[in-house]
Amino acid sequence: MAKKRKAIIDTNYCVACGTCVKVCPLQIIHIEQGVFAKINYDKCVGCGKCARVCPASVIEVQMMEVAN
Ligand code: SF4
Ligand code: SF4
Repeated sequence: MAKKRKAIIDTNYCVACGTCVKVCPLQIIHIEQGVFAKINYDKCVGCGKCARVCPASVIEVQMMEVAN
């Protein structure tokens, strides 16, 4: 198991503003059913751009176990 940096969203407190969606260089975040932001974790490179711009500060970059 390798460890990689991935952005994690606390969806309970996400206000679905869409700011993170716009800044992600890989365009892998979308707003799920208009309620909260969701990341395609397989593709996230953990750059942290989304975390820096989130007005609600609900995104954190963490080390996560990945399968490859
Ligand atoms: S950490 Fe970077 S690649 Fe991952 S979702 Fe956020 S902006 Fe996109
Ligand atoms: S920037 Fe923050 S509050 Fe806005 S949609 Fe993304 S995670 Fe939710």
